[in-house]
Amino acid sequence: MILIHYGELFTKGLNRPFFQNMLLRNLKAAVPKSQVYLEAHRFLMEFPKGTEAAEESNALEAVGKVFGVANFAQAIETDGTDIQDLVPAAMTLLEGKNGPFKIEVSRSYKNHGLTSIQIAQQLALALEKKGVHVGVRNAVGTLNVEILQHKALVYGQKHAGLGGLPVGCTGTVVTLLSGGIDSPVASFLLAKRGVKSVYLHFHPFKDKEDAVRRSEKIQNLVRQLHPYTQSTSLYLVPYNFFVLDALHVPERYALPLFRRFMMRVAQRIAEKEGAEAIGTGENLAQVSSQTLSNLNSIGSATDLQVLRPLLTYDKHEIITLAEKIGTYAISNQDYIDCCQSLVAKHPATSTKISELEKLEQRLSPDLLQQTLNCTVLVSVNTDSPKVPA
Ligand code: ATP
Ligand code: MG
Repeated sequence: MILIHYGELFTKGLNRPFFQNMLLRNLKAAVPKSQVYLEAHRFLMEFPKGTEAAEESNALEAVGKVFGVANFAQAIETDGTDIQDLVPAAMTLLEGKNGPFKIEVSRSYKNHGLTSIQIAQQLALALEKKGVHVGVRNAVGTLNVEILQHKALVYGQKHAGLGGLPVGCTGTVVTLLSGGIDSPVASFLLAKRGVKSVYLHFHPFKDKEDAVRRSEKIQNLVRQLHPYTQSTSLYLVPYNFFVLDALHVPERYALPLFRRFMMRVAQRIAEKEGAEAIGTGENLAQVSSQTLSNLNSIGSATDLQVLRPLLTYDKHEIITLAEKIGTYAISNQDYIDCCQSLVAKHPATSTKISELEKLEQRLSPDLLQQTLNCTVLVSVNTDSPKVPA
């Protein structure tokens, strides 16, 4: 079985059951074959008889990607909490290994007749009789024992989880996903704070069918992120109506105007999806559209909160994270990025909301509706392998 400890949920007081249920649901979704239940403030994940070692190791990997998990370990459950109940489990874990091993005992059930230290001492004696080298000095590993009411959990190495909050507990956010490096990382960080993403991508393709077929790279990003984000909904929105309209405005304003347009589309999708904010991979001063004044102008196009988790990150910090979560290689694949055609030689780095509003009067009044009419919602199939981009 896998023993799973949660972290920040402990601070949630009366709301704790809500967070626990969310995490329970996400753990089950991450390892569908398992049985997961809550016992004495930890989760226990059990596998049906006959489960192969490889499947258990996949499960460990999957648990390591679930937000809300503080740490986890492969554990053995004992039938009782007496010293003789603990010994066989300890021997199984230590088989073939050379000590010394440190023993750490914790009791969530305090009415066990012995204190944690007494249990550790008696277990040490029993194990030494069987030839195990127990000791703190130069210990090569730790044998952990957690005493519950009717059973104990015995385990060796503890793995660090991702921390954060279970996805879904904060609410839904429309996340603007490009084919670049930043926005997939932003989506990962939003998930860390319990956000469920509904993705929105602006594409340069000719119609809905073409967009579904040719946006493999974006769908692969969604697939790669899924173990962390649990999110599969992807709106594919055409940007060609905007591009045609943008011919009526000075080139240097096309990109800030497009960013404002993106916010308006995102807000409409948010209303439909019950989402309460818009997420982006924007960063302070990374590119010309990300000056303070441009970020102001962009944000003012929507009433919703714009969440920018990468605002203060350096590019190399973003790349390190992208490599860790496996999106970097996908982001680096070739793709037609629709914003590229809107980048002017001398883009406006300082924009005023009033001047942009004036320019927007030159855009077609039907632009937003036309664009929404040609938008398609895809539910990305995360079971299928990544399609080559
Ligand atoms: P990178 O900076 O790594 O090239 P990026 O995705 O951050 O990639 P930017 O041009 O910096 O690209 O865009 C800023 C943000 O605007 C993105 O992080 C993303 O949230 C949003 N965005 C850009 N292009 C698109 C697009 N085609 N569809 C949806 N959102 C987009
Ligand atoms: Mg960027």
